Amino acid sequence: MTRDRSFRNFFELDWKWRVEFLMAAYNWVVVDETCPACGKRSRLRCQTHVASDYSGDASGRFHDREYHLGQRMAWWPREHIGFERWRVDRRHRDRNSVDATFDEEACHATCPVCDADLFVVLRFHENVPERVLAIGKGADWPAVYAR
Ligand SMILES: [Zn+2]
Repeated sequence: MTRDRSFRNFFELDWKWRVEFLMAAYNWVVVDETCPACGKRSRLRCQTHVASDYSGDASGRFHDREYHLGQRMAWWPREHIGFERWRVDRRHRDRNSVDATFDEEACHATCPVCDADLFVVLRFHENVPERVLAIGKGADWPAVYAR
């Protein structure tokens, strides 16, 4: 099925396609960190938009998959025209001064112990989540990152 995202066709889509029209694709990066709200060691699922797209390859869509730090996320191969779209640019800054092989994103996460809304800043080297740069309560979301 070819997806026409024009407004005219929006209401002809079934509910599932409509939800996707309104929401960017995402994946999950699982990290074990100390929750800043309850102080417990928690397994956090961080919602990322890096290397996320509703299309995909033979292995499936690049959406709603779970990854760990250091694990290469499923994505188009480097020679594919879509490869460069792994970035999300959710940090406000001068693109000209940016190393194009890295990106950072503040990701939403919820503590499974205390249910706190959290942010986890992840650093990516292309489509590989490398490490956690910062973690905090959702209310303290760092202004340099888009929500
Ligand atoms: Zn917690």
